[in-house]
Amino acid sequence: MPKKIDYYIRIGRFTHEREVLEEFVENYDGLNIPANILAYYSKAFYVLISKIKHSYFIDPQTYVFASRLSNDVVTRTVEIEEEGKKREERTLKKSYDKLLDFYQDSQFLKDTLKNGPLSIAYFNDIKLKDFVNSSLNFQQEILLEESEKSAISKYDRIYAGTENHQIIDQTNIMKPAFLTLPYFYIENDSSPWYKINISILNIAKNYRTDLKKYAVFCLEKTLISNTKFIVKLLSDYQGFDGYIVFISGFDQWSNSSSELKNFKKFIELLHDTYKKPIIHNYGTILSAYLNEIGISCFSSGIYINNSKNIDEEGMGRVKFRYYVPSSHSILNQNESKNYFLKFDPTSECTCNLCEYIKKQKTGNIPQDLVIIDRIFRPGNTLKQITRKSSKHFLINMKKEIDFVNEHNSTEYIERLTNDTGMSNNYSGVVTNSHLRRWIDVIGDT
Ligand SMILES: [Zn+2]
Repeated sequence: MPKKIDYYIRIGRFTHEREVLEEFVENYDGLNIPANILAYYSKAFYVLISKIKHSYFIDPQTYVFASRLSNDVVTRTVEIEEEGKKREERTLKKSYDKLLDFYQDSQFLKDTLKNGPLSIAYFNDIKLKDFVNSSLNFQQEILLEESEKSAISKYDRIYAGTENHQIIDQTNIMKPAFLTLPYFYIENDSSPWYKINISILNIAKNYRTDLKKYAVFCLEKTLISNTKFIVKLLSDYQGFDGYIVFISGFDQWSNSSSELKNFKKFIELLHDTYKKPIIHNYGTILSAYLNEIGISCFSSGIYINNSKNIDEEGMGRVKFRYYVPSSHSILNQNESKNYFLKFDPTSECTCNLCEYIKKQKTGNIPQDLVIIDRIFRPGNTLKQITRKSSKHFLINMKKEIDFVNEHNSTEYIERLTNDTGMSNNYSGVVTNSHLRRWIDVIGDT
């Protein structure tokens, strides 16, 4: 029997996503919030979570401090004018600056990160313990602190007291579903960060909390098929309440069958070894189809790319993305234009965006190109455009996850086989060769 799979939205561009998250609260099960974004928008998150009442967990984002990524994810370059002369200076991004306020060694970390990644030499026993405790304290307390500060919270209590003669206790909603242990990226089997990760696990074991603790496997993709490494990894990481899998370079659309099978084997091994919940961070719908082998939750962004390569730059600008349900793939703006020109999207969806395109296409407006360009015309703000595409995305994700939760892997394969036939009609615009690989992986025993 299929096990229920949860879908958590990974926050990427909070200001763009906020309204959609409120409106489509039924379409997902929780939030995966990067620590820096939470630090920066803590009050807004407090308000959002009070409303949606979904659980959430925090990605501590610690890996970026030690990788090449710190250069473009943690810092930005600003132009400074001094005595009539302009020069460029690197400074921390506001969200990371805010997050580091919660760290014990705040000023030193800020000064260092402004100029480059943290080195392994920084982490002596005391510094590492401070680092781990700071991250875990932050996760445990940030929204509870907001809750104490918030006038809304007080209002809720008074209101509930008069209406229902009971006080609504927001404490449980405001706590994360579990604490995510800080982690660093392991790029090969001799990475010096491996040892640091193991020390983090040991420190975290002694951290006192009533919350569950989840450890993170943040690995380069070929490592998951390195048997010797995996045996050691599984033994070193035991003893936690759950595991988050974050595989750099894993991409369900472009990876080969054997790469996808290696991923599946890794998940099966994790599940058999630990019998604990497994969350696939930067997963997407293929992760849902792998629920029977042990993935209990996957998280993906609405605007950001769903795969993540740690050696590449951050998530970039917010873009229009159109999810094609039959091919289970995502089109960018130009591909979407071509798709809308050639095909009628409403056979697959009845969301506002799809309805709008259908209406325009069947109307008396002569030039198709003009019609499609209306969606992307300059008068429409990026926010409006992306909001339309994100609603379409969430509606279709929900349908698909419901399907997964109500069927088994034999039926998944039937569906994906049908979808392959259906999406063949869109050839030239939509690729679907990944579906053959998915069927291959799901059916592989
Ligand atoms: Zn739609």
